[in-house]
Amino acid sequence: MVEKRYPMAFVTAPGVIEFRSYERAPLEPLEVRLKVKAASICGGDLHIFKGKHPFAPLPVSVGHELAGEVIETGHAVTKVRNGDRVAVEPVIACGRCQPCRRGDYHLCMNISFQYRKGQGAFTPYFVAHEDRVFRLPDGLSYDEGALVEPLSVALHAVKKSGVRLAETSAVFGAGAIGLLVTMLLRQASGGRTFIVDVDDFRLRKGLELGACRAVHNRREDAREVILAETDGIGVDKAYEAVGMEMTLRQALESLRKGGTATLLGLFEVSPAYLPVNLFVQKEISLLGSQGYNWDFQDALVLLDQRRLDLKPLITHRVRLEDLQSGFEILLDPAGQAVKVVVVMEKPAV
Ligand SMILES: [Zn+2]
Ligand SMILES: [Zn+2]
Repeated sequence: MVEKRYPMAFVTAPGVIEFRSYERAPLEPLEVRLKVKAASICGGDLHIFKGKHPFAPLPVSVGHELAGEVIETGHAVTKVRNGDRVAVEPVIACGRCQPCRRGDYHLCMNISFQYRKGQGAFTPYFVAHEDRVFRLPDGLSYDEGALVEPLSVALHAVKKSGVRLAETSAVFGAGAIGLLVTMLLRQASGGRTFIVDVDDFRLRKGLELGACRAVHNRREDAREVILAETDGIGVDKAYEAVGMEMTLRQALESLRKGGTATLLGLFEVSPAYLPVNLFVQKEISLLGSQGYNWDFQDALVLLDQRRLDLKPLITHRVRLEDLQSGFEILLDPAGQAVKVVVVMEKPAV
């Protein structure tokens, strides 16, 4: 039985999580109510927590990476039923604008996310449209199910980059997205991958998850290392998953002639200063990658086929009431954290 009122986490001021009371609403015909089982904290949530997200002014409910159990369905729902274990694609697209009608719903002219409309994921219950819920493969835990969302972000970028077998890559940023890109490159290319960060713990994860060389970007210069280790040629593909001018510049400067960089990072400061002559001199390309578009389905295929193990990304589990500490662990330079999963029930020790 769903309580009439239950708590939902909001960021109300920089650094402040507040639980507000949320009133249970009746379901629309095509809506599904979930009991949230696991919800992970995203880099985007951290931008919000710092009060620096360019598109999500405070106060705002937070959390968009979740998995749960279906406990109630609207009368017209046919896709799932009570007891199903699902992940949620938390995007809201209008379905009517030109990009939506072309099939590019991630580029919807009216795009939004459920958390920006008052349905965050750090709460005991979550309501989603049936089109946006996806059954989890048997054997995949709810914790891993919450990571289908960031996996879809990484998958979209790797597909978009057009990486080919045996190509060499550089991934800037060893947070969850950069590490997921690294894992996917092992599947999509099988070539050498450099992972670049300033955190030793995350760099070690990068090596564990398939990178051939970790570059500590304070003790070394990423561009110099990559050029030296590729006979002065540079990498075929670079991925920027930090959101900083310096790393975007390094990504471009590390490319071989004719190479392609893909930008996934969210910049707290925009515009940025770039070595623009490189584009013509080296005929390089820079692509942007936004969210996901039919990538949840593919992410779930890879998980069903056991191509990827998401468990090594989960470094911490906290209870809902300890959400504030979950954010703080991620922002602590000594935190040794990649993914913090918020669990609704007492975590099994
Ligand atoms: Zn996310
Ligand atoms: Zn649209």
